[in-house]
Amino acid sequence: MTATRPSGSTWSGNHRYRAAEVLLPADADELAEVVTSHARVRVQATRHTFNDVADSDDVLVSLERMPTRIDVGGDRVRVEGLVTFAQLAPVIEAEGRALHNLGSLPHISVAGAAATGTHGSGLRNGNLSSAVEALEILDADGRTHRVDRDHAWFPAAALGIGAFGVVTAVELRTEPTYTVTQQAYTGVSWDDIVGDCDRVFGSSRSVSVFTTWGDPAHDLVWAKSDTGEPTWVEELGGRPVGDDIHLGRIRTVDNTTPRGTPGPWHTRLPHFRADALPSDGDEIQSEYFVPFASAREALAAVRAIAPGFHDQLLVTELRTVAADGLWLSPAFERDVLAIHFTWRNDTDGVLSALPGIEAALAPFDARPHWGKAFTMPGERILESLPRANEFDAIAREADPRGVFRNPFLQRVFGG
Ligand SMILES: Cc1cc2nc3c(=O)[nH]c(=O)nc-3n(C[C@H](O)[C@H](O)[C@H](O)COP(=O)(O)OP(=O)(O)OC[C@H]3O[C@@H](n4cnc5c(N)ncnc54)[C@H](O)[C@@H]3O)c2cc1C
Repeated sequence: MTATRPSGSTWSGNHRYRAAEVLLPADADELAEVVTSHARVRVQATRHTFNDVADSDDVLVSLERMPTRIDVGGDRVRVEGLVTFAQLAPVIEAEGRALHNLGSLPHISVAGAAATGTHGSGLRNGNLSSAVEALEILDADGRTHRVDRDHAWFPAAALGIGAFGVVTAVELRTEPTYTVTQQAYTGVSWDDIVGDCDRVFGSSRSVSVFTTWGDPAHDLVWAKSDTGEPTWVEELGGRPVGDDIHLGRIRTVDNTTPRGTPGPWHTRLPHFRADALPSDGDEIQSEYFVPFASAREALAAVRAIAPGFHDQLLVTELRTVAADGLWLSPAFERDVLAIHFTWRNDTDGVLSALPGIEAALAPFDARPHWGKAFTMPGERILESLPRANEFDAIAREADPRGVFRNPFLQRVFGG
């Protein structure tokens, strides 16, 4: 009999899963049995989302007891089950390979990150879904499909928000390993940051700007360079900060990756170390993506209304993501500026702040992060993603009984 556990809540506790329980199959046969014997199923991975995208009104399934093989070969790595980036990265590094980028934390699963378009930063770096070369997906009838770049489902399923079935394996593109040196700097003026976004976000492999939209003491440029120290920030007046840094109102204590010394890509690209609690923990996150070409105007629009959400905000992080061709990607066919908000863990406060931000960003056709809190109605999201209706059609074709539909998908796509 398949083991179970309570469905619990998201990592930060802001959403309690409605699903009756989480089923824990131990192998492929048990997984197929679970999927084919329930009316509605969703996968719960490492739970680092901030909404009900992973929830189900029937049961959840977790791959945590399933095998976690990692096979490295040529310019690919294939991972099975609930493998996290923390588990994957050292294995490919040992083979002299690397991923093109990582998110701010390595604790999350490869399949969950790909499903939501999780991203790091870099004008030339696509999100993590853009490194997907193939997926193995178990459908509602217990059949496995290998969906590679030639498969009709690919541009939908590679960033599929769980709509196609259970992803049992992911193949990612790798590149030769590289070294990164990072440093975080205070002292760069807001005017310099917004005045030359091309320079600020384009001078290192990955650049994040942290701000609380007004207090210059909270403005921080965190640059990660693959060509030595990112000293260009000092030309803009930046001064390296000490060991434990403030990310806006979040004080990091011994949980960030080493700054000022070179190291393998996976030990520097995430802000937070795999062996420590990332970020604040007691928080909610939101994020919106606007065309990078409109960065300056979009930042001015948010700054104008920032006093209204000041009390709820812990910190904003600004990053960039290169365009891709995935139909639900926030970077679909456009390079984007990602405007992120880490909020106090107060759902009512956050829900009252979001509509104002979404209205301010509406002229820029903003798209939300699928895994974070937003209040934009489905129609508006669909308008901002020109292939979203094709996504919906192909997902319904792949899952005609709607086993993997959940209230989140129904809100966005209807039905
Ligand atoms: C501290 C912190 C920092 C973060 N930093 C970043 C960041 O830098 N960049 C960024 O973009 N996001 C970031 N996020 C958001 C988060 O990491 C992503 O949204 C990611 O999706 C979480 O992955 P997960 O494994 O926890 O997935 P879950 O929350 O468990 O699931 C996410 C979605 O993927 C689906 N899914 C997961 N596994 C499978 C599978 N095997 N088959 C089918 N569907 C599946 C789920 O059903 C759900 O719809 C951060 C979150 C936290 C808490």
